[in-house]
Amino acid sequence: MFKALVLDQVEKQTTSSIRQLNDADLPESDVIVNVDYSSLNYKDGLAITGKGKIVRNFPMVPGIDLTGTVEQSHDPRYAAGDKVVLTGWGVGEGHWGGMAEKASLKADWLVPLPEGLSGKQAMMVGTAGFTAMLCVQALVDAGITPESGEILVTGASGGVGSVAVTLLAKLGYKVAAVTGRIEQNGTLLTELGASRIIDRSEFEEPARALEKQIWAGAVDTVGSKVLAKVLAQMDYNGAVAACGLAGGFDLPTTVMPFILRNVSLLGIDSVSCPSAKRIKAWQRLAELLPDSYYQQACTEVELEQVAEYAEAITNGQVTGRVVIKL
Ligand code: NDP
Repeated sequence: MFKALVLDQVEKQTTSSIRQLNDADLPESDVIVNVDYSSLNYKDGLAITGKGKIVRNFPMVPGIDLTGTVEQSHDPRYAAGDKVVLTGWGVGEGHWGGMAEKASLKADWLVPLPEGLSGKQAMMVGTAGFTAMLCVQALVDAGITPESGEILVTGASGGVGSVAVTLLAKLGYKVAAVTGRIEQNGTLLTELGASRIIDRSEFEEPARALEKQIWAGAVDTVGSKVLAKVLAQMDYNGAVAACGLAGGFDLPTTVMPFILRNVSLLGIDSVSCPSAKRIKAWQRLAELLPDSYYQQACTEVELEQVAEYAEAITNGQVTGRVVIKL
């Protein structure tokens, strides 16, 4: 028997309850993992409260991120005792996820937990940190170096943005952070490595087709008019890694930055990122993230507290990372 948070749908309303399940209840797959930690993302909050159409079939165990220890494997790549990490692939949405003491998963979805990273640390990084690493790698691959110039990060105090600031600073880039919460998070962003902090309102004015060239590269988690402004301010040959829509999914821009300044807009998806790229990104995260990153606010909760925190995260009342101890 093992414990799980289970979502059901009753008269079109999502309900959640803690249940004792049998191994036989688990979906069939290649690898059984004893889950050590999961984490609570905004997407999990939407799934658990039913505020967003995240879950594709019921009953569902939520949890888009997990770390744990292999109990049993039908795949030669993994053996009992191996430590693994998983993010994305629709786990916790269409396939039972991390908010249970056990999970049954495809071997293709798993990444060996990199040396030097604990399970709890991996969940503090989670999908958000992994996505930040993909953004930073995309800028590196586009040829943006610390000598190219300043890098802008938008939504900087969010999960993705704060890791992007940390990683870029660690790699020697000069980082400017855009935030709507300077008073609350300005000091933290400076500690993470930002050399200047810019108020979000400066990026909410409508963008002209082309503005003064300021940024060699950018990580954008916000989209909409903020991304349009960033594009208009990119240097010749600049590149923007775009992963988010915290400010909206539209993009009121023109082709001018692309055709007159050779700017590249690099799309970043973490959910279906291929395995080899995933493994490399997790190794880089383990190498690059300093201890100070793990000292930032992190709340560790039990499965029984998840419903309460899910409500809070969807109301914007959670600061820092929430990890769930199984
Ligand atoms: P968070 O909620 O932790 O952070 C988003 C940040 O964006 C906030 O902290 C805030 O930063 C800023 N923000 C919030 N609302 C607005 C607004 N209306 N206008 C402008 N800025 C705003 O989210 P994550 O960091 O986890 O995710 C960021 C985005 O990336 C989300 O849209 C998420 O859906 C997406 N995402 C995409 C992934 C992918 O695979 N492509 C994977 C993971 C996330 P501040 O207070 O500093 O201004």
